[in-house]
Amino acid sequence: MRNDELLALDRAHVWHPYGPMPGRTDPLVVASASGVRLRLAEPAEGRDELIDGMSSWWSAIHGYNHPVLNEAVKGQLDRMSHVMFGGLTHEPAVRLAARLVEITPEPLRHVFLSDSGSVAVEVAVKMCLQHWRSVGRPGKQRLLTWRGGYHGDTWQPMSVCDPQGGMHELWSGVLQRQVFVDAPPVAYEESYAELLRTEIARHADELAAVIVEPVVQGAGGMRFHDPAYLKVLREACDEHDVLLVFDEIATGFGRTGTLFAADQAGVSPDVMCVGKALTGGYLSMAATLCTSKVADGISQGEVPVLAHGPTFMGNPLASAVALASIDLLLSRDWAVDVKRIEAGLREGLAPVAGLPGVKDVRVCGAIGVVQLDHAIDMAAATRAAVGAGVWLRPFRDLIYTMPPYVTGDEDLARICAGVHAAAAAG
Ligand SMILES: *Cc1c(COP(=O)(O)O)cnc(C)c1O
Repeated sequence: MRNDELLALDRAHVWHPYGPMPGRTDPLVVASASGVRLRLAEPAEGRDELIDGMSSWWSAIHGYNHPVLNEAVKGQLDRMSHVMFGGLTHEPAVRLAARLVEITPEPLRHVFLSDSGSVAVEVAVKMCLQHWRSVGRPGKQRLLTWRGGYHGDTWQPMSVCDPQGGMHELWSGVLQRQVFVDAPPVAYEESYAELLRTEIARHADELAAVIVEPVVQGAGGMRFHDPAYLKVLREACDEHDVLLVFDEIATGFGRTGTLFAADQAGVSPDVMCVGKALTGGYLSMAATLCTSKVADGISQGEVPVLAHGPTFMGNPLASAVALASIDLLLSRDWAVDVKRIEAGLREGLAPVAGLPGVKDVRVCGAIGVVQLDHAIDMAAATRAAVGAGVWLRPFRDLIYTMPPYVTGDEDLARICAGVHAAAAAG
């Protein structure tokens, strides 16, 4: 299909994330992707290839078209691409679940496989509410979270996304009203820890769970915080009979420098969600893990089952590539790569701090963020990055990058140059 035909059809018929209908801007057409490069169907700003600074929204940690991951999908394809999970099971899903239990913090023991991060959060919330209902405390139905979070776009996750200036402000009168505390400060402050303790204690009778993104808040504002707050949450939740949910959909699989962000605090949640990088960016899959305490509670109830069962639950192709991605990650010195990228981002982004209109430059693990003092001109910033040969997707006042772990030093320097160009233009 010719590029202009394709774009006309795209504009007329296809929704894009957070997009209007019909579309108002032309997306770039990607013809193929390999390693850390996206190959465009038609050159843009003089570039027919872009270095990917986004890992396709945190997911493509090994880069694109990876021979090991390709092989995992092809091998599974020849056996079966899908069978229903009700009444049937299969080796890829069982091995994946066991592997997830093995690599996530103790005592997470049981795994619910679903098809996207938002659904994994829905399942986490359902588990928590049902746990309390089943053990005779049906009044515990609300969630507590801190501001600045993002947990997905379906209904329950939207209710715990940042209620102000976030992507879901439109629905503030419609969504379930959860308990919000201020966003966590970057550094540890005892007064904020005290606020967390007080609010959890005050709402304990109505709280099913506290849900947070540990260490890094992603799409809600790309903010970082001291892992010590996770310990405070754990202790307060234990003291007041509240479950603790970690949404590690963005932070999981090494992105912050430890395999899971929870590892930085040595804290285990009762429920944990993973997604995004789970399949190395190949297929849509997420998982919700819980402890035996949560599962046993549900099993004692009047309805002793978890009433959730996505059609494509445990999809064998996704399971097979997730297993291969985890094995590939653990077989490499991934932590060294993340450290190397962290150092490269610190060095490469430092000069951006001197640009007019730049409020903050921050780096955590393989995540680099430039925050402006104004809303970004998305079109101008994107054009500038593309002109520098880099794919970035800024939002609000933020230009950020989380490159694939396999990004080499030269490409990393180019990504930093792309961020610099975007910040200067936006
Ligand atoms: C992306 C994300 C989600 C939602 O995942 P989807 O697969 O997009 O539904 C939930 N929580 C966090 C922290 C995320 O980054």
